Amino acid sequence: MGLLNWTSGQHFDHGENCSCTQCGKPTPMRSHAGEPVHKVCAEDWNDRNPGAPRYEHNGHDLGTTRYHSDHPRKKRRDGA
Ligand SMILES: [Zn+2]
Repeated sequence: MGLLNWTSGQHFDHGENCSCTQCGKPTPMRSHAGEPVHKVCAEDWNDRNPGAPRYEHNGHDLGTTRYHSDHPRKKRRDGA
């Protein structure tokens, strides 16, 4: 399992820190489901749970259903 791609702003809660569900330390990071978790803790969880249900998008394995990467941005080819 590689690193997660969490570049979307939805993963960063500017309002408050909550306790990470993995290590218990405060974090502004959120999973796609809104679960407080450090990105590194999510990646570690994925590594430790290889049997977890996979999350796929357009045939690409983006991680587990609990912690997965953002959908890759579509390349725009407007040509204009
Ligand atoms: Zn953590």
